[in-house]
Amino acid sequence: MEDYHGMWAELGLDLERHDEFLEGLGPAYQEIYLNQEFRPKGMEYFDFTTSEIHGLRIKELLELKKKGHKIVGTFCVYVPEEIVMAARGVWVGVCGGSQFSIPDAERILPSNLCPLIKSAFGFMEAKTSPYYQVPDFFVGEATCDGKKKVWEIFGNYVPFYTMEIPNSKSYMGKRLWLDEVIKFKEKMERESGVSITPEELEEKIQLINRKRRTLARFFDLRKADPPPISGKDALLVSQIAYYDDPERFTTKVNVLCDELEEKVQKGMGVVKKGTPRIMISGCPFALPFWKLHHTVESSKAVVVCEESCVGTRYFTNPVDEGCPTLEDKFKAIADRYLKINCSCFTPNEERIEEIARYVRDFKVDGVILFTLQFCLTYSIECIKVQKALKRFNVPVLEIETDYGEQDVGQLQTRIEAFIEQIS
Ligand code: SF4
Ligand code: SF4
Repeated sequence: MEDYHGMWAELGLDLERHDEFLEGLGPAYQEIYLNQEFRPKGMEYFDFTTSEIHGLRIKELLELKKKGHKIVGTFCVYVPEEIVMAARGVWVGVCGGSQFSIPDAERILPSNLCPLIKSAFGFMEAKTSPYYQVPDFFVGEATCDGKKKVWEIFGNYVPFYTMEIPNSKSYMGKRLWLDEVIKFKEKMERESGVSITPEELEEKIQLINRKRRTLARFFDLRKADPPPISGKDALLVSQIAYYDDPERFTTKVNVLCDELEEKVQKGMGVVKKGTPRIMISGCPFALPFWKLHHTVESSKAVVVCEESCVGTRYFTNPVDEGCPTLEDKFKAIADRYLKINCSCFTPNEERIEEIARYVRDFKVDGVILFTLQFCLTYSIECIKVQKALKRFNVPVLEIETDYGEQDVGQLQTRIEAFIEQIS
């Protein structure tokens, strides 16, 4: 691997602590990922991309920046990728998924806050990740209370723009959201000095739709029994979707899918046919949060679906293609994004219907409702989801956790007991 210390120093990173962070990741990756059996060859690309996520990918982003592209750090699947790209921007997901940066955040933010927010803030404040140094600006959204209040503080450190997200999908909510999408388009145009044309926007709509359809193809292959890929590997692919170049990512996922398709045809899987099939539903899994999948898959079960923003919510529903005018295209974008069923909306019945559909389609034996600590919206929504799943006789386990390792033993015991119950 190339030595990137010069690049990281130029970015102003705290080199010693950044090294400490990367050194911690290596053994964890070896244990969680590389020690798995029957891994598809197509995962080599994702292993490589993960190993170069602070290296080669950052180098690429800096080169794009030099050529005039605006790098936009985002924290939510509500920030329209197509619009960023149509204005010659690069959309990069920068949610935090590591315990490493949380003590840094807790020096400033309250500790009773969701780890996803704290982790991102800690990396930015202590300069321990290049993903908070490279973007030209960041886009947050007014979804949960934790996020919208922390964005105000974030904005004291780095250029920040906040999109308002409606609380409901009512007529007024839809109008507000369309306005926000248009305002965001204007913001992107101001930042980049590029006027978005219908042709450019249509091209990017089609590009991101291809990425979504490819991920849908990938998830469809996990419906097989036995599944041809582990939940951990599938999670990694979903996580890399937030960092990689969309065109290249789509090509590589398709290569992986071709290989998986062959395995499915031959009845080959990563586990034995009949292994308990788990769906994890709830909060996002920001990179490098792998703890839950690893615990499930170390307990003689396999994760076959993630109903999550790092999972199905990222790719379901393409944007309508071929809308005649620029205005129609923005409306199609707004419509598509408002179909994402985040627990920040009230009511959010569509999410429950979606979960029930996935249980059926992925032949799920049990659902783990996953909440990150202090995430009120997903935590409260568990009550309704659990009730609905009970109606369909689907076993459910509720897990609330953070990014630390201290509860791993307890998680293992609870998950093993759950899997025994559904086996
Ligand atoms: S869970 Fe909600 S707030 Fe978080 S990324 Fe998804 S849509 Fe955005
Ligand atoms: S996981 Fe929950 S609390 Fe955390 S950022 Fe997302 S919606 Fe907010």
